[in-house]
Amino acid sequence: MRCRPGLLATTVAVLVSACSAPTAPAPAPAPTASAEVRVAAPSPSTPAPVVVLDPGHNGGNAANPSVVDALVPAGGFEKPCNTTGTSTDAGYPEHAYAFDVALRTAHLLRARGVTVVLTRDDDTGVGPCVDARAAIATAAGAALTVSIHADGAAASARGFHVVEPALAPDGGNAAVLAASDVAARDLLASFGTATGLPRADYLGDLVEPGLTRRSDLAGLNLARTPSALLESANMRNAEEATLVSDPDFRATAARGIADGVTAFLARNGS
Ligand SMILES: [Zn+2]
Repeated sequence: MRCRPGLLATTVAVLVSACSAPTAPAPAPAPTASAEVRVAAPSPSTPAPVVVLDPGHNGGNAANPSVVDALVPAGGFEKPCNTTGTSTDAGYPEHAYAFDVALRTAHLLRARGVTVVLTRDDDTGVGPCVDARAAIATAAGAALTVSIHADGAAASARGFHVVEPALAPDGGNAAVLAASDVAARDLLASFGTATGLPRADYLGDLVEPGLTRRSDLAGLNLARTPSALLESANMRNAEEATLVSDPDFRATAARGIADGVTAFLARNGS
């Protein structure tokens, strides 16, 4: 597969009766409160919010260096189209982790009435390039984009962190910095609460513990909708490698992400 984005958009009807068409003859009883339904039901005037989930890297990247090494716009400079990502010492790759967590997160969010768009629809292709991933979010009119990664730091390093955009060298993301900061803090809180992981202990120049602000990442520089990037764990740390390799942890990680997304959407009445 060439470096071309595959847009996978799925709208799933919410599980509350308020989304019934106005002409429905017999309205169902009002829904009871549920912890799983925290996003307002869509109507013709208030469509379901769109959230883009961006699982980092892709399974075919390593075998296609000529594609992923090609330079693409990155917000005032150029970067490679994509990278291969990291892996645990046992060989569990970041791209597989990110894709699995993205699918789990999408499932949770759709059940809460959110329209979810993934930047890639399998874990065997190449790319999409980082600029194409940002373009998917822009085209989708995303209320929020979350890029899902896991880090490959020193073996002794622990913890997760969230990256929010700093002003890109070309200034193009200025309009989304404030909202991205709010979203990043929501993700930081929810992911830590869900997983119990510590905030990363190996980063400098922090906005607050576990939160960094960067202008060298193409996806955040090219963001035209609120965006944040999650480094879920350090895959090179033995303890965290065991966690990310465990499907139960990935389910928990997805819940942490979905809860952060839901909290952010609720702030805007979405
Ligand atoms: Zn990554």
